[in-house]
Amino acid sequence: MKIITVLSCLCVLSTSFASYANDAPFAIAIHGGAGTIQQSSFTPEKEQAYRLKLKEAVDAGYVVLEKGGTSLDAVAQAINVLENSPFFNAGIGAVYTHNEQHEMDASIMDGNTMKAGAVAGVKHIKNPIDLARLVMDKSVHVMLYGEGAEEFALTQGVALVANETFDTPHRYESLQHAKEKMLKSQSENKDYIASHNELEVEYKVGTVGAVALDKQGNISSGTSTGGMTNKRYGRIGDSPIIGAGTYAENGVCAVSATGHGEYFIRYHVAGDICARVKYQNKSIIQAADEVINQRLITAGGTGGVIAIDHRGNIATPFNTDGMYRATRKSGEEAQVMIWRDK
Ligand code: ASP
Repeated sequence: MKIITVLSCLCVLSTSFASYANDAPFAIAIHGGAGTIQQSSFTPEKEQAYRLKLKEAVDAGYVVLEKGGTSLDAVAQAINVLENSPFFNAGIGAVYTHNEQHEMDASIMDGNTMKAGAVAGVKHIKNPIDLARLVMDKSVHVMLYGEGAEEFALTQGVALVANETFDTPHRYESLQHAKEKMLKSQSENKDYIASHNELEVEYKVGTVGAVALDKQGNISSGTSTGGMTNKRYGRIGDSPIIGAGTYAENGVCAVSATGHGEYFIRYHVAGDICARVKYQNKSIIQAADEVINQRLITAGGTGGVIAIDHRGNIATPFNTDGMYRATRKSGEEAQVMIWRDK
């Protein structure tokens, strides 16, 4: 008799837990980079194609969350869609280095466990975000770079691909323009730093990322990038740096950044936003706006972030012309935006 009572109690408990979990809010936001995204350079067909790809990415993550999957899986799935598209500066479509190669950075963070994984300067990994996840799950480290990261990939059964896999004609053209502009500045007696500083923002930005809240209340974030056009000397940006380009902490916030990485590293952008939420009780909307539209602007740093909190509130501030982005909350349709108001 007692056993039956206990069993039926357990049954009621598990049913109510399951229905609680099923009704729990969930949400996802993604970005495909911030920068000089001029409306005039978009044909209606091109704009439509970008919007469809952003929707595909946010929906891919949403489906994972809807089925009760983890925010980590949702983030990785959404980022995979963007990495596999030539439209964005990550995976296929990554920008070219000075030596006409592609060197990619990525990171992922689990707000539930505070675990994180990152890779930097990888050249032969089709989906760098997946390798970052493996670093988190299957290594004793947080960040691996270059050949070592690829050696680790092999131990995990990840196949290496040719660097040419990531080639696209539009990024190659962009590299040639960046080189010409820098040579012109140098012929006017400007040094490397001055001529690099003169390069327009479009050569310094472009990245993909995602943040998500799952039905279990866990938040995560991830970021993947080809970095900066014409980069040299093994330059690594903010995207693989926890606290700069990516951060997640349950009950606080999860952030993925896109922008001029040197500023995002020095201003500790993702960590700063979450610190404002945690220690100053600010909403993510206010905290993210303060960092992107006040602190970074004063410093001269361009870019934006996507941020989410444990209630599913989402902030997407940017201080550039546009930021490719999409959001979707439980029970709602996807919202896809490129410019400030559409
Ligand atoms: N933050 C990236 C980097 O500096 C680029 C970007 O997000 O646009 O490598």
